[in-house]
Amino acid sequence: MTKVGFAGLGNMGGPMARNLVAAGHEVRVYDLVPELARAVEGGVPVDSAAAAADGVDVFISMLPAGRHVAGLYLGDGKEGGVLERLSPEALVIDCSTIDPATARRVAAAAAEKGLDMLDAPVSGGTAGAENGTLTFIVGGPEPALKRARPLFEAMGANVFHAGGNGAGQIAKVCNNMLLAVQMAGTAEALSLGVDNGLDPAVLSEIIKRSSGGNWALNVYNPWPGVMEGVPAGRGYEGGFLVDLMTKDLGLAMEAAEQSRSSVPMGSLAKNLYRVHEQVNAAGRLDFSSIQWLYRPEMAAKRES
Ligand code: NAD
Repeated sequence: MTKVGFAGLGNMGGPMARNLVAAGHEVRVYDLVPELARAVEGGVPVDSAAAAADGVDVFISMLPAGRHVAGLYLGDGKEGGVLERLSPEALVIDCSTIDPATARRVAAAAAEKGLDMLDAPVSGGTAGAENGTLTFIVGGPEPALKRARPLFEAMGANVFHAGGNGAGQIAKVCNNMLLAVQMAGTAEALSLGVDNGLDPAVLSEIIKRSSGGNWALNVYNPWPGVMEGVPAGRGYEGGFLVDLMTKDLGLAMEAAEQSRSSVPMGSLAKNLYRVHEQVNAAGRLDFSSIQWLYRPEMAAKRES
């Protein structure tokens, strides 16, 4: 049994904390929204991040963005951060998807206090968080990963070591940038086929078994009615939000800026998603709804 402090109990963090409780760990849970802490059955709700950090072996965070992570660990100028409260033996794991520069900055501050820290963004969405099948993409020292592994295994099915601190975040944004490019390209190809008289289901089957096959087309088809059990079949509700995809594409652009990398495809995908979000008020829809950008008549149906 490990004593865990957990901050950030939203769509992802709530079910992840629940899986840690189910695996027999003692979990102190904290969120800015107190009801979310009380909703983690079997967890110990506390009313501050400091209280979640006191005396724990491992501290985990699952927050929206880099500024929240920096504020939590380093403090906000008025109040000190969690790094000051943790005992020197504690292990720190941030599972949020944030910019690699902040991940490295917070890990360096942790190291100054003698604390090991991992960045461990996840893939697998809310269903993966609920079912304990997340993929953890980890950056940080190998011995720290070894210590964290039993907790990752309680919350997920796969653990990858990408490299040193920040590498987990880099790997995650590379993956999501490629996913956005694939999804936009898939929506575009399906639209071209339909404009030229093809049935989208027939075209999908052909591409799936040809060289254009890819994850977006094969298991997450964006055209409504082609595939069962995907967001396109339920008005693009649920799934991975356009808001989160545009956030991750922004992180990819920041990383590219820092490394002076050329990312024209990622940049185009980011702008397509931004236009889609604005023109179709699509921020809270699944990211496969990018199909609407090519088929305004589908978006119009939703409005009517
Ligand atoms: P969410 O907005 O549902 O949850 C974030 C929670 O953090 C909120 O409940 C908020 O009150 C809390 N919070 C903010 N600042 C805090 C602080 N200082 N202390 C304590 N709690 C604080 O977001 P989510 O969907 O759970 O996503 C969390 C992270 O996981 C994001 O970085 C996101 O990009 C990433 N992610 C999300 C998904 C997904 O499908 N939702 C998939 C993979 C990765």
